[in-house]
Amino acid sequence: MSLFHVLQKELQETGPITLQAYMRRALTDPTYGYYIQRQPLGSAGVDGGDFTTAPEISQMFGELLGAWCADLWHRMDSPPKLSLVELGPGRGTLMADVLRAASVLPAFSKAVEVHFVEISPTLRALQAEKVPDAHWHDDLAALPASQGQPMIILANEFFDALPIQQFRKTDSGWDEMMVAEAAEALVFTERACDTAPFSPLQRLPEVETGDIVEACPDAEQVMRLLADKLTIAGGAALIIDYGYSAPSVGDSFQALHRHTYADPLANPGEADLTAHVNFSYLRDAATTSGLAGTQIVQQGAFLQALGLDVRAQALCASSPDRQRQILAERDRLAAADQMGHLFKVLGLASASCPPLAGF
Ligand code: SAH
Repeated sequence: MSLFHVLQKELQETGPITLQAYMRRALTDPTYGYYIQRQPLGSAGVDGGDFTTAPEISQMFGELLGAWCADLWHRMDSPPKLSLVELGPGRGTLMADVLRAASVLPAFSKAVEVHFVEISPTLRALQAEKVPDAHWHDDLAALPASQGQPMIILANEFFDALPIQQFRKTDSGWDEMMVAEAAEALVFTERACDTAPFSPLQRLPEVETGDIVEACPDAEQVMRLLADKLTIAGGAALIIDYGYSAPSVGDSFQALHRHTYADPLANPGEADLTAHVNFSYLRDAATTSGLAGTQIVQQGAFLQALGLDVRAQALCASSPDRQRQILAERDRLAAADQMGHLFKVLGLASASCPPLAGF
């Protein structure tokens, strides 16, 4: 039985479900969910992955974030204990690179306690190979936070995996995007609602009839928890993802299967489903809960500010035979037409935290 058949049968009985409910089932259904049963990351063909991410592309990404963490810890007056938290750590590559780079400061390595928030048992096993002494949590609510042990939270390509709602502006109000069963297929349909249940925190763009606006209540919930934890413990968060800086219209719901765009309703549980992240909404949710937010900057500019070019040159000098590859990786992370502009970075800090570098 596949999730497609399970949903087909369910929808025949119950009628349409919201896009949000569909995305949640497709990604995290306890039996059939994409993140529950598959190993999503990696090159097509080599290890059967559907998509790749910055830390999987280049060690430089994690190394620069490792230096960012160690520098911030140092400017926090080198607390003897620090929780280094990652949301959705994938294969554990980012954290392994962070820890290796930051080990130039042995006192930092000694202070660090690694915490992973991860829903996937498959990925937890891979993370344990790279970072054996991490602590795992099902969700952010379960993460321990205590005064006197500050926290640095990293989230790379985590928020794009949270289920979204979509609403379409109509002449008389809004329609919510739904998923229905019809003629042996899953199809999009719409259901009228008088007013779309947008969060009061979500600033809406200018809309015209026919425009789609997306919302992500789960993201707001995560932000609130993140703010609670940082307020208790003190510290900062770095959120990196693809998305937009100002409220925008448009349908960004997409499926990736073996590195190719796919029909998001064709193979639930088999393809990665994502949506672009609304960064201004994340920042508003965090600042309303008491954190300070940085400007939303592009990944390219952020990595350059942290020394991407210097790091690339140092790697080229120590491995001249890999020079072309290293420079190509640098461009992939930072060039405007690659990840450099589409990906954004947002920093968040508690009141007690020193200023964040790179913004
Ligand atoms: N950060 C990694 C992986 C990104 S993929 C990288 O950059 O390579 C998204 C990650 O978030 C995966 O580890 C996935 O299992 C996890 N994830 C997705 N939804 C989640 C949820 N609701 N709760 C916790 N983890 C989740």
